[in-house]
Amino acid sequence: LSDRLSKAFKNISGQGKLTEKNMNEMLKEVRMSLLEADVNYTVVKDFIANVKEKAMGQEVMDSLNPGQMVVKIVRDELQTLLGTSDARINFKKTGITTVMMVGLQGTGKTTASAKIAKYCKEKLAKRVLLVACDVIRPAAIEQLKTLGKSIDVEVYSLGTEVGALQTARKAMDYAKDRQKDLVIFDTAGRLHIDDELMKELQDMKSYVGPDDILLTVDAMTGQDIVTVAKEFNDQLSITGLVVTKMDGDARGGGLLSVRSITNVPVLFVSSGEKVEDLEAFHPDRMANRILGMGDVVSLVEQAEEKLDMEIQKQTAKNLMSGTFNFNDLLNQYDEITKMGSMQKMLKMIPGMNKMAQNVDDELMNKNLKKSRAIIQSMTPYERENPGCLKASRKNRIAKGAGVKVMEINKLINQIEQMQSVSKMMKNGVPNMNALQNMQ
Ligand code: GDP
Ligand code: MG
Repeated sequence: LSDRLSKAFKNISGQGKLTEKNMNEMLKEVRMSLLEADVNYTVVKDFIANVKEKAMGQEVMDSLNPGQMVVKIVRDELQTLLGTSDARINFKKTGITTVMMVGLQGTGKTTASAKIAKYCKEKLAKRVLLVACDVIRPAAIEQLKTLGKSIDVEVYSLGTEVGALQTARKAMDYAKDRQKDLVIFDTAGRLHIDDELMKELQDMKSYVGPDDILLTVDAMTGQDIVTVAKEFNDQLSITGLVVTKMDGDARGGGLLSVRSITNVPVLFVSSGEKVEDLEAFHPDRMANRILGMGDVVSLVEQAEEKLDMEIQKQTAKNLMSGTFNFNDLLNQYDEITKMGSMQKMLKMIPGMNKMAQNVDDELMNKNLKKSRAIIQSMTPYERENPGCLKASRKNRIAKGAGVKVMEINKLINQIEQMQSVSKMMKNGVPNMNALQNMQ
C-alpha cells in the first residue's frame, strides 16, 4: 500500500485544494491496495464511502496539504474501524474469570491458550489454570501439557476418556479449590464448521457461562476468514478475536475484514510459534501497518517544522565529497536533538520500526552529550580536519571534555565510517548508519 500511496500522494501534493477529482484518484489507490491486502470487498466499499464523506465535508488543516489531509483521514478512519481503544479480557471483579477459546482446527487455539495464560500470569499477575477440553485427540492434550510446563502454568485434564463438558465441570471445581482467578478452556476444532462442533461448544458455553469467548482466526486464510468468523459469531456470540499467524505475509487485511464484519474487538495478535509471540492488540499500530507507511502525516509535519534543510544539505554535500568533519557531526546531533526522541522518529519512517525497537533513547542522549562535549573541546582547525588528531591533541581534548582517549577514538571512527558509507547518504536525510553506530 505504501508504494501506491506515495505515488498518489506525490500527484496530489502541491495542488491548491482538495477537489473531488484529485481525491478520487487517491481513493482509487487506497481501494486497490486494500483489496490487494485481501480486505473483504464489502468492507472496502463501505470504508471508501466513509472516507469520502468525511473528506468532502472537512476543511484542509493549515499545516497539511490536501494529499496529506486525505492520508490522515484514511488513517483515522482505519483506526476507527479497528477500534478506538485497546480491548482487554473481561475480568470479573471477584471470583474466577473464565475464557473459552474457539476456532477451526489449526488456527492456533491451543498455542494461543498458552500464550494468553503466560501473558495474564506475567503481566497481570493472574493465577491461571489451563483446561484441556479438546479431548478427541490425545496429541492435543499432550500439546497443551507441554506448553503449560514451559510457561509454568498448571494444565487440567481428565484424558480422552472423559467428555469435554464433564472435564470443564470438574475443572471449575478444581479451580475453586486452588483459588485460581483465571481459567482458560482450550476446545476442539474441526477443519470445517459442523453442527456437532457447534453443539458441543454451545453446551460448554451454557455450562461455563464464560466471561469471554475468544475466536482464533488465522490471518493467512484470506477471504474465507470472514465466512468462518461470521458463522462462529452467529452461533456463539463471540466476545473477542485473537488473530494468529500475523508473522506471515498477511498485512492485516483479514484482520480488518473480520473485525469489521463481526464488530467484535481484536484482543490479541499472535505472530509466531513461540509462547512469547503474543501481543495485546493496538488499533493505532495496526492502522499504520495496514497502510504500511508509518505515521507519514506527523512525520511530514515535524520534519517541516524542525529540520533545517539547508544545514542538512551542506552536511550531505560534505559527506558526498568525503570532507565530512566534526562540524557536520555536530550539526547532525543538533538535528536529532530537535526531533526529540530518536526512537519516535524512526518509528514514523516506514520500514524502520524494527530498528526503532533497538534504539535506547536514554543511552543515545547520554552518548550525544558526551560526543558533543568532545567536539566542543576541539579547536576549529581540528573540527575541520579530523585527520590531524594525533596523540597529544587527543590527550588535550580528552582532558577538556573529561573523557577517556578511547572515547575520542570512537568518535574518529564514526567520522571514518561516515565517509565510507557516503554512497548511501541521500540528500537531506539524516544518516541512519551513523545514528546506529552511536549506541
Ligand atoms: P489449534 O488446532 O487451533 O489448537 O492450533 P494449534 O495451536 O495447535 O496451532 C496449529 C499450528 O500453528 C501449530 O504448528 C502452531 O505452532 C502454529 N501457530 C500457532 N500460532 C502461530 C503464529 O502466530 N504464527 C505461526 N507462524 N504459527 C503459529
Ligand atoms: Mg488445539
